[in-house]
Amino acid sequence: MLIVMGAHATPEQTEAVCKKIEELGFKPHPMPGASRTSIGITGNPGPIVPEPFENMPGVVELIPVTRLYKLVSREFKGENTVVQVGNVSVGGKDLVVVAGPCAVETEERMIRIAEKVRDAGAHMLRGGAFKPRTSPYSFQGLGLEGLKILAKAREVSGLPIVTEAIDAESLDLVEEYADVIQIGARNAQNFSLLKKAGRAKKPILLKRGMSATLDEFLLAAEYVMSEGNYNVILCERGVRTFADHTRNTLDLSIVPEVKRISHLPIITDPSHGTGKRHMVTPLSRSSVAVGADGVIIEVHDEPEHALSDGPQALLPDQFARLMEELRLLAPVIRRGLPLVAV
Ligand code: PEP
Ligand code: MN
Repeated sequence: MLIVMGAHATPEQTEAVCKKIEELGFKPHPMPGASRTSIGITGNPGPIVPEPFENMPGVVELIPVTRLYKLVSREFKGENTVVQVGNVSVGGKDLVVVAGPCAVETEERMIRIAEKVRDAGAHMLRGGAFKPRTSPYSFQGLGLEGLKILAKAREVSGLPIVTEAIDAESLDLVEEYADVIQIGARNAQNFSLLKKAGRAKKPILLKRGMSATLDEFLLAAEYVMSEGNYNVILCERGVRTFADHTRNTLDLSIVPEVKRISHLPIITDPSHGTGKRHMVTPLSRSSVAVGADGVIIEVHDEPEHALSDGPQALLPDQFARLMEELRLLAPVIRRGLPLVAV
């Protein structure tokens, strides 16, 4: 059930409703909107009886929640969520571009790429320190040393850092060093990790699972939000299909559907979504055209020597051209693409 407080409800009245929810043994999720506050309820094993709330001061509506998910849904919050990462707003009018190598390799390379993508107009920097690799013999990432390099790259470039946590242990470290914690496709149904991410104090970039349906994708976000972390950025990164001309099939149709039923921002990852360098720019253009709030792009200055995902990395010059194209496209779709102010 969703409890809607009137436009003139006082903070004390909202507080009293939250207290009542707690008394019943459930968890309240007050979400202030532009004109009213909604309070979601989680932790209830079945439907909630409306009686205890019906006559409470300030309550104007009790809405039974019909969907599987509650907190991610537009029933819970009508306005788009804008996730704030330093000066960067994800999910607002402006498009957001995250760029950088698949993995942190060396400090010199990380800083070199950071400066290049920053100069081209990227708003955030990516790079994996903990890499979830299909083979145990592939490069697994530099771990803590990689996080320290990322912190240095942030200092030099001024760009906030997005990096992946692959388990509970790395999540603590990533939370300490990063600005945004990425939960990758392979962990999109690691429910204990999702819950831990929900207790973290940093925003979460949540990738869609490799074969996740829309419901499974949104329920993964629900896991994070149910623990109290409402700063979730969804990311479509392609799903596995019968198609073998790409690494994954970037499912652009999920973007307008997510926008219809959820208030959360969604970006796409045309790098993992195609696995092919020559497809990254076309699929980035189409992602923003279909309504994505931005893209996350892999960039490497020597992709032939990259320790992971070289074939899908754009060269810095190609990335700069992509940014120029997105800058031309943005006004056509009534979005902005600000040059980063650093
Ligand atoms: C990545 O971003 O480097 C990554 C491993 O992504 P995904 O989880 O989407 O495969
Ligand atoms: Mn990668």
